[in-house]
Amino acid sequence: MIPGFYKLSIVQRRQQLMQTDFGESDMMALAGAVCDETNRLERMSENVVGALRLPMGILTGLIVNGIAHVVPMATEEPSVVAAVNRTARLINAAGGIQAEVMKPVTTAQIMLVICSACAQMLCDRIMSDKGRWLDVANRCDEKLISLGGGAFDLDSAILPGDDEWAETFVVTRLHVHTLDAMGANIVNTMAEAVMGEMVREYHADSRFSSIEPGMAILTNASPGRMVTASVSIPFECIEGICGIDGEHFSHLIARSSAFASRSSERAITHNKGILNGIMAAALAFGEDTRALGIAATDYACRHGHQPLARWTIGQASLKGTLRLPIVAGFVGGTKLGAPYQAALKLAEIHSYHSLCSVLAGVGLAQNLGALWALSTEGIQAGHMKLHLRKMG
Ligand code: NAD
Repeated sequence: MIPGFYKLSIVQRRQQLMQTDFGESDMMALAGAVCDETNRLERMSENVVGALRLPMGILTGLIVNGIAHVVPMATEEPSVVAAVNRTARLINAAGGIQAEVMKPVTTAQIMLVICSACAQMLCDRIMSDKGRWLDVANRCDEKLISLGGGAFDLDSAILPGDDEWAETFVVTRLHVHTLDAMGANIVNTMAEAVMGEMVREYHADSRFSSIEPGMAILTNASPGRMVTASVSIPFECIEGICGIDGEHFSHLIARSSAFASRSSERAITHNKGILNGIMAAALAFGEDTRALGIAATDYACRHGHQPLARWTIGQASLKGTLRLPIVAGFVGGTKLGAPYQAALKLAEIHSYHSLCSVLAGVGLAQNLGALWALSTEGIQAGHMKLHLRKMG
């Protein structure tokens, strides 16, 4: 235990750690040197003693919605950046990826505890006061409202007591258009304000005197943030770029995709490969990669673990589609800091729409790269060469 660690400066914290047999060279290995960057990082997290560095690789060009994006990718895993670059050549030759992004919605859950006999009455009351609760939520973020976003709907449901916990919960879901923001703080602020007001107001009504606040927090399930990326690659393009018979290549890729549809064990690894690409780019752009990962995984698991990307054979072409929720923000907390702004500038990303399109595009290209290797030379030939280089 190191009491008061949070009150110390970065230099003092490092000295504290080095008072044990954890020496200066260990400290440098753990968290690098103290520099201006460290001070910036201290504003992002707590008890900061330094920074972890990751290799930043570059996807040298992927065409998404007609624009060639140069995408920085931060990952410790060898062969991710090499594979996506190889595949991008093929995809670009076919005209690139088309992506569609829905107007993003983030949802919060407001959980109240109430006696089971009153639960339905409370649900009905909340629904009849819906306009008022949307107003309370929208008063929390005038900027968002002025830009055309905000809370637009809510619903309420009962979660009855069970063997694990006897109390009845009434859960109100607040749906919010978060525009260009990832939205977690926006929605959490709104949900807490609504819960506070609800408890105050309903507690004064003798029918609801047993009401207690439970919690107010967004759900990371994100069906309101779906993004679709698709590509169609003519056989002749495959032959030109890969020097492989296009029909045969497409057959191998589509068959590998079908394997992921039939086997959830395969689908999990198929999807991990997609996230290899999306997460590496998302990390470079400063996104909340945990929110992104859990939302994508939740969506993949709707009916057993299903592949997020599928490949089929079309009219003399290979067709691929990736569909998943992309939790990302073009403005807000995730975008503070020069490295993230520089990453967006390099990638020529100027909007939320383009950010999500590029992330999905990288995921689809990464998936094709993995299936290409797996269904031809195998993953180890290329991967192990690069892995062994990493191991020195
Ligand atoms: P944020 O708190 O910075 O809020 C965004 C702000 O930007 C809003 O106040 C909004 O008014 C303003 N804004 C200006 N222009 C806008 C535009 N064009 N579109 C939308 N908003 C605009 O950021 P956030 O996105 O609400 O929260 C993201 C952060 O919350 C991330 O750092 C994330 O890690 C963190 N977080 C995540 C979870 C979770 O996922 N469970 C929980 C809590 C916090």
